Amino acid sequence: MKLQSSPIQKVQFEGYSFYLKRDDLLHPDFSGNKARKLYYFFQIPLKIKKVISYGSMQSNAMYSLAVLAKMKGWQFEYHTRINEELLQNPKGNLKAALEKGMKIIDIGHLTMDIGEKNLLSECKIIDDTLIVPEGVRCKEAEYGIKILAQEIIEWANEKNIEKLNIFLPSGTGTTALYLQKTLSSVRCPMSNVYTVPCVGDKEYLKKQFFALEADEKFHPTILEPPKRYRFGKLYEELFEIWLNLKKQTGVEFDLLYDPIAFSTILSNLQCLMSNAFLYIHQGGVLGNITMEERYKKKFATIS
Ligand SMILES: *Cc1c(COP(=O)(O)O)cnc(C)c1O
Repeated sequence: MKLQSSPIQKVQFEGYSFYLKRDDLLHPDFSGNKARKLYYFFQIPLKIKKVISYGSMQSNAMYSLAVLAKMKGWQFEYHTRINEELLQNPKGNLKAALEKGMKIIDIGHLTMDIGEKNLLSECKIIDDTLIVPEGVRCKEAEYGIKILAQEIIEWANEKNIEKLNIFLPSGTGTTALYLQKTLSSVRCPMSNVYTVPCVGDKEYLKKQFFALEADEKFHPTILEPPKRYRFGKLYEELFEIWLNLKKQTGVEFDLLYDPIAFSTILSNLQCLMSNAFLYIHQGGVLGNITMEERYKKKFATIS
């Protein structure tokens, strides 16, 4: 399978007009930035039979790995702290991943701190097993993100865009980093990649950048959100941004990263809108089912 290049459309939000790269439409099953990051493993023949990874029970990476494994005929074993209630009544990414044959393994009994391990930034092959770190933060991700960068360059050249500001929210920062790195190596368009840390703080994100790329000149520009948001926590104003995005652009965005991104964009308009502006929709809408339920339960008045 070869992924077709994803479309770019013009949208308007809060009176500002900008471009939107629809990586959520990359492929019906294999989409968003996890598909970009895993594309290497998709394209390069590997003598493996099994994939192992770990992370949260609703993660987008988990679902994309399940799709990859199924397409390749590999077994997929996912290690997580099992929430029994969720497992009895799976939804969203979990349901879809289980349907693709994912085997789930409980690490809830482990008392060790896996915080340090979370900085593992390598994919490893041991015997016939591929081990993928949480969030697919590894060098192999560069392969697919280069293709994303090339699609953007081609489009910008066609449109005669000389200066481009690109924004995408970060978890591990892998996508933003490799995008900036690839774009830095071409002269036209002059592109600046901006991002916001959604999972940790600015220092955490900087650390992640350095784990993948020692040369700071390839690092994206980090903007900070107007206030500190804890990842996965519910904030009424973020839900409102998400609803407004849907209403004004007609596009469903993801509920975890995109609202933090847009609250950051709205507080940095002067800087960001000084050139042509491109936002990258990185998928993840399958995770919205459970997030939306939580939001509606917590804030009964909003709909
Ligand atoms: C995983 C993910 C991100 C974060 O990507 P990183 O490469 O880890 O920074 C952002 N948005 C969505 C929708 C994601 O699924």
